[in-house]
Amino acid sequence: MTTFESLGLSAPLLRALAAEGYSVPTPIQSKAIPHVLAGRDLFGCAQTGTGKTAAFALPLIERMLADRRTAAPRRCRTLVLAPTRELASQIHDSFRAYGRHAGLKAAVIFGGVSQRPQSAALTKGVDVVIATPGRLLDLVGQRLVDLRAVEFLVLDEADRMLDMGFIHDMKRIVAMLPRDRQTLFFSATLPAEVRELASSMLDDPLEVKTTPQATPAETVSQSVFFIAKSEKRAKLVQLLREEATGRVIVFTRTKHGADKLHRDLDKAGITAAAIHGNKSQNQRERALAAFKSPRPPVLIATDIAARGIDVDQVTHVINFELPHEPETYVHRIGRTGRAGQTGAAISLCDNEERSRLVAIERLLRRPIPQRNAPPTGPIPEPAEPARGQRSAGGPGGPRGQRTGRGTGHGRPQSRPQAKRRQEGSRRPARGDQAPAAATVARKPKKKHRRAL
Ligand code: AMP
Repeated sequence: MTTFESLGLSAPLLRALAAEGYSVPTPIQSKAIPHVLAGRDLFGCAQTGTGKTAAFALPLIERMLADRRTAAPRRCRTLVLAPTRELASQIHDSFRAYGRHAGLKAAVIFGGVSQRPQSAALTKGVDVVIATPGRLLDLVGQRLVDLRAVEFLVLDEADRMLDMGFIHDMKRIVAMLPRDRQTLFFSATLPAEVRELASSMLDDPLEVKTTPQATPAETVSQSVFFIAKSEKRAKLVQLLREEATGRVIVFTRTKHGADKLHRDLDKAGITAAAIHGNKSQNQRERALAAFKSPRPPVLIATDIAARGIDVDQVTHVINFELPHEPETYVHRIGRTGRAGQTGAAISLCDNEERSRLVAIERLLRRPIPQRNAPPTGPIPEPAEPARGQRSAGGPGGPRGQRTGRGTGHGRPQSRPQAKRRQEGSRRPARGDQAPAAATVARKPKKKHRRAL
């Protein structure tokens, strides 16, 4: 059996790992640690929860210990770039925990807070800097940090950094580093853009891929509706009103799709919040804080943005669109049914998604229970209404009133008011707004959503 000792880690790290209660390395740790210790670049495809932080932090601490140097003012030996302050802080905590007997110094740097304590730590000199790209470039610009002595670079959640628009910042930072360095690159997904970036930064890397767990918790009840694409919004509104009335995450595949759905739920009087890569850190934090509150809005999320969500008591996951990768389905529905609690995962599957459903069922090695009979042929699309004329609730549904959930006002809002409240100053795309008459003409059914 592989042990941390057999991977080549020394006593100070083994003691720290024992204190953390880690007895066996995770697969990514077993694969990556010996190669990182040997100085090789790494291209890791791994999601949070696989133990990837220790997979890079442990061997890098070991490498710094093997060649001890006094930390020079404003310089660092290891630089870790992460997309968000939450992740940067978690990585900082991990370095401190694993390095507690190593006598190394680490500093974390991110925006949105005073830079003074961060620059004070850097001035003294540290071994490890964990940073979000924007604030790091600010400090470099002020000559408070000098990256010319970096020996080890880690890019964590590179796909999320790209998604959040950090590509130019990342490239600027990498251009400041010595060419002769060891680089460890992690991403949970591998779109072409990520591969391209990785190949521009890595030298003959070892590729390590960890597959996420393929078995969802038994506590999650799964089901699928076969439905025409144009009917999905109405079905979602119905589910949110009648069934999924607790803490609900709705997944869309794209940022644009998330925003569009946010507007549609808003029109239907359902309080929602969206998180995706185009939202600022503050917007995402606000949405998550609201989602954790006892009266949570429906959270609309893209896969990449949802990765940082660690919220207990998610009662329902709704797949408004099925993901391309079957593993992503397992990852999505793993947000609910945690810690022995029950949860439900409901998927809306249209014609084009039938093959994705087949791939998911193949991965799960069992069919997902169907809520309606699948059509033998293509699912019929109803007659196409003029764009912008369909209410989000669909024909015959109760629409046009706030549910009272989350707004705290308990009274109906006019559309423009509601939109401003939901979206700040963002301008909606042209043609996306339904005429107000379509949403206010029907008699609203008073159905208040249950608070948790
Ligand atoms: P990560 O994927 O780095 O976010 O790690 C996920 C969680 O797994 C963290 O809470 C770690 O503390 C924990 N962890 C990492 N490696 C191990 C291990 N070998 N044994 C037990 N827990 C671990």
